[in-house]
Amino acid sequence: MADRTLMSKGEGRISVEEVGKIYDPEGVNVCALKDCNMEIDPGEFVMLVGPSGCGKTTLLNAIAGFSNVTSGIISLDDEIIASPSMHQSPGADRIVVFQGGALFPWKTVLGNLVYGPMMQGKMKRDEAVAEARRLMDKLGLSKSCEELYPEKLSSGMMRQVEIIRALINNPKVLLLDEPFRALDNMTKSLMHEYLLEVFAITKKTIFFITHDLEEAVFLADRVLIMTTRPGTIKASIEVNISRPRSFKTLATRDFMDLKEQAEAAVKEETLKAFEAGERELA
Ligand code: ADP
Ligand code: MG
Repeated sequence: MADRTLMSKGEGRISVEEVGKIYDPEGVNVCALKDCNMEIDPGEFVMLVGPSGCGKTTLLNAIAGFSNVTSGIISLDDEIIASPSMHQSPGADRIVVFQGGALFPWKTVLGNLVYGPMMQGKMKRDEAVAEARRLMDKLGLSKSCEELYPEKLSSGMMRQVEIIRALINNPKVLLLDEPFRALDNMTKSLMHEYLLEVFAITKKTIFFITHDLEEAVFLADRVLIMTTRPGTIKASIEVNISRPRSFKTLATRDFMDLKEQAEAAVKEETLKAFEAGERELA
């Protein structure tokens, strides 16, 4: 099922070492991350869960290059991408898929897909169009929607286009910040199966943030639990459930046990966050 041209080449190791982040140190001084450590292997699918406002988006933004960190180091394949003195700007090697979506409304599906590689001068228009069509075909998006504008797409299709738009840049890692949060349950479960398929084909490193523990255990190789703010990694749960997975996986004993384990860990932190009056921004 895996596709050689799409597949990661053993790249995409993310290392987070002793990372801290303080917003507005001279003013309100919000300590969002403290002594945060994690390591994600190339080709690993890691989900991060934790209570609202604990620092999940802060960590993802630092990996993506949207902001720097106050202490510690983040590296991608042994290259430092964020430290107190620098951060590598967002690039094609680390693409983020957001909850709100970010397709250009004035461009068609095809126009959205070819935009990135053309802007970066990586492909000429003909090449980018051919590559976009190849990916749409490989990743199950009907050719008939290539001339549609985003407003005509269902919310699930929009997410599909966003994922393909990320993959056309051949990133080392795919970063997702609650991308399916606003979807209805049926669409969400279709998107889960879709993302599992994408993962099977590309074997990209995936770092995915969610509130939803069922989503976390269903998709991940490993689920990381973040503490209440300041966020740090409290536990790591290996999900030893074989792939391919399907909705039937959700009814297995192993799945339910792991979900319960994750639930207990998150609940403890959520109570602490609740008592501290924490709320999220996103
Ligand atoms: P999560 O994604 O886990 O809900 P965030 O990473 O968005 O949490 O936020 C972590 C904490 O940092 C929250 O208390 C939030 O209010 C605070 N925060 C986030 N962004 C900023 C900012 N730009 N300035 C000040 N505080 C911020
Ligand atoms: Mg968030």
